[in-house]
Amino acid sequence: MKTFNVPVTYRSPLIGAIKNRRKQQDKMKKDFTPTFLDLGPLHIFLARHFGFCYGVENAIEISFRTVDENPGKRIFLLSEMIHNPRVNEDLRARGVRFLQDTHGRELIPFSELTADDIVIIPAFGTTLEMEKKLQKAGIQTSTYNTTCPFVEKVWNRSEQIARKEYTVIVHGKPGHEETRATFSHAASHTPTLVIKDMREAELLAKYIKGQLPAGEFHTSFKGQYSAGFDPRKDLERIGVVNQTTMLASDTQAIADFLKQTMIETYQSDTGTSFPRPDPVDSQSPNPAAPEERFADTRDTLCYATLDNQTAVSGMLETPADLAIVVGGYNSSNTSHLVELCEEHLPTYFISSDEKILSDREILHYNFHTHEELLSRDYLLSRKRTTDYTKNDAAIRSATAATQSETPAIRSATESKQAGSRPSTADQPATNLQATRILITSGASCPDSMVEAVIRKLAAYFPGASGQLEELISESRQC
Ligand code: SF4
Repeated sequence: MKTFNVPVTYRSPLIGAIKNRRKQQDKMKKDFTPTFLDLGPLHIFLARHFGFCYGVENAIEISFRTVDENPGKRIFLLSEMIHNPRVNEDLRARGVRFLQDTHGRELIPFSELTADDIVIIPAFGTTLEMEKKLQKAGIQTSTYNTTCPFVEKVWNRSEQIARKEYTVIVHGKPGHEETRATFSHAASHTPTLVIKDMREAELLAKYIKGQLPAGEFHTSFKGQYSAGFDPRKDLERIGVVNQTTMLASDTQAIADFLKQTMIETYQSDTGTSFPRPDPVDSQSPNPAAPEERFADTRDTLCYATLDNQTAVSGMLETPADLAIVVGGYNSSNTSHLVELCEEHLPTYFISSDEKILSDREILHYNFHTHEELLSRDYLLSRKRTTDYTKNDAAIRSATAATQSETPAIRSATESKQAGSRPSTADQPATNLQATRILITSGASCPDSMVEAVIRKLAAYFPGASGQLEELISESRQC
């Protein structure tokens, strides 16, 4: 995959070395065990995949290059470039201004724009309406467009199924920039509806089956359907695409559920109270085939979202005391990683290392209630030994993977083997006093921020910082 030129301050030699080594050893990405950093009294387990994805690196490269190549020009970002406060602050510090907030509210009047200005379109893309608005102001919308190709892939897939007369159901957060953009592109081709979760899918199924009166549809899905949406005919043939950062398993469950709904509804001709349409064109499947009422769109899931979520599932097989997930509080993909972790163990969603106030206090975000909380004794609220003993095979597996794949990490383990304390690879259940922390980050979080979190934590454990510095210095030599 292409490599990008992003500011070096976002990189981490340690994490870069770990990622490279694991990539070399597992080119087919089949191993989702975490990487184990043995820092003595602190055991860190890093998810196999985390951090900047293709789309984010592409957007960062274009944005910083645009600033460098256009001294003296006014440069605007349509909205937050990615959902990471540090990256957005860095761009602000270089003179870039934001035209809108994440909800699409104007921060700077568009009437101030001139044809000499540059407007960068962020990785989530934008709506067709916004493109027209910018073009009307004389702005070149294609030159500085950082829309991720994986988002465009969803738009293209929507267009393909629209051509076959399918209605597009977007699984996404209705207010999210990417969902608004996907909705706009899909709705230019076909009736389109956004649903945010399984509860709304179940509600939709009632309209598909004719169990709820069509007249109530527009109230149930207020603000989430395209102009002229007619539930009497626009739910006869559907396909599901998603906001690329949704929980992949949720999208799959919703798609499976709606497919089954279509099959059940149309396998007997009495399943719906709505009139049936005629075949629409020669490409359309026979409407009598119920399974063809549902377009297969599984390939719209973004690789990074899938990898990061699968890596968290792999990481969660390792018993630990707590999990830390690093990323912007308004980052959809990060909140889904948090969601996965918090089902298993105490989980702290932090936007940077600065949220770790001390070894006793941490500020972290509750994305359910949208508030930042202060928790005390987060390092002490530990599950204890029985689970570790029961699951020591998982620890061994994670350790073994690391030993064979990451020289810097292996060196650290070897140095322990030479010292007084046996490595956890040999005796995984014996070092029961070590604190075990799972760490991952969202697709918009710089690796340097994850390293800063590890550094901060290591400082609270005697000897751990020294071990970490050894690892970092070894990885710099790689
Ligand atoms: S999460 Fe996926 S779709 Fe979104 S920017 Fe990254 S690679 Fe692109």
